[in-house]
Amino acid sequence: MRFMGPRRPSNRRQVGTSMQTLKKRICRFCESGVIYIDYKDEKQLSRFTTERGKIIPRRISGTCAKHQRQLVQAIKRARHLALLPFVQEVPQ
Ligand SMILES: [Zn+2]
Repeated sequence: MRFMGPRRPSNRRQVGTSMQTLKKRICRFCESGVIYIDYKDEKQLSRFTTERGKIIPRRISGTCAKHQRQLVQAIKRARHLALLPFVQEVPQ
């Protein structure tokens, strides 16, 4: 994997910047009482993928094991249905 240098804070993706909750150790799905993660809800799923389209690991997103399993399954289904990308080009 190619190592990318220190990230500068980008100004153009400033829409939902409460996303930068990297230190928060609370599972967002447990918090909101989600029982089933919908694979058709690509907006929610895309919040748990990087801009390159990779799934954000549990240790970073803070999602619990139970929900991470469901999330991964949902993201993979969504990818198969072309709702989410497998890989995405990142403009430099
Ligand atoms: Zn959870």
